[in-house]
Amino acid sequence: MNIDFTKSAHGLIPAIIQDSETKNVLMLGYMNAESYQKTLDTKKVTFYSRSKQRLWTKGEESGNFLNLVDIKNDCDNDTLLVQVKPEGPTCHTGADTCWQTQNESNYGFISNLEETIKIRRENADSEKSYVASLFEKGINKIAQKVGEEAIEVVIEAKDDNDHLFLDESADLLFHYLILLQAKGFQLNDVVQVLKSRQK
Ligand code: AMP
Ligand code: ZN
Ligand code: ZN
Ligand code: ZN
Repeated sequence: MNIDFTKSAHGLIPAIIQDSETKNVLMLGYMNAESYQKTLDTKKVTFYSRSKQRLWTKGEESGNFLNLVDIKNDCDNDTLLVQVKPEGPTCHTGADTCWQTQNESNYGFISNLEETIKIRRENADSEKSYVASLFEKGINKIAQKVGEEAIEVVIEAKDDNDHLFLDESADLLFHYLILLQAKGFQLNDVVQVLKSRQK
């Protein structure tokens, strides 16, 4: 890797620290050639601290190390993307990130949909909202809907109409997200179970 440490003042280049799994940005620090090499050698992210004016291994006092997973150079070799598995909170304030956000998994569109379902459950008029009306009917009814949609997926899987198969798959996933919430869970709880099964 050909990193250009000379391009910026004092031979320091920004290193964006990202959780390799959740993809959240945890913090930003600066590296010089020496801290970069130490990071590679020790697999613990090491910066050049501008306030301490020395190499600084994140976690050296707190034990909240950033364990190196991968380092990528940007398009013009002057910024690093450092992917890590953090041990404990990254910010010295005790927050997960230096922007005081939680380092939670986010499933993009699906997470937004879960949020919408939650809002409908809490606020919506069940005359107008299908989701609210389902919650009103209760868990047994919601579970039954999941069963029906699952059967529809099975039926469409036998045909070769991709459109219908995907339509029923969407119905199944949607109602399954509602069932999870009715039971007090989120997709992430299921993901954690799947992860725990990985060897
Ligand atoms: P640590 O490297 O976690 O042992 O923390 C040692 C010291 O580094 C702390 O007392 C803070 O002054 C500073 N520090 C720790 N984490 C951060 C951070 N995420 N951003 C800026 N400074 C930090
Ligand atoms: Zn660049
Ligand atoms: Zn911080
Ligand atoms: Zn359906």
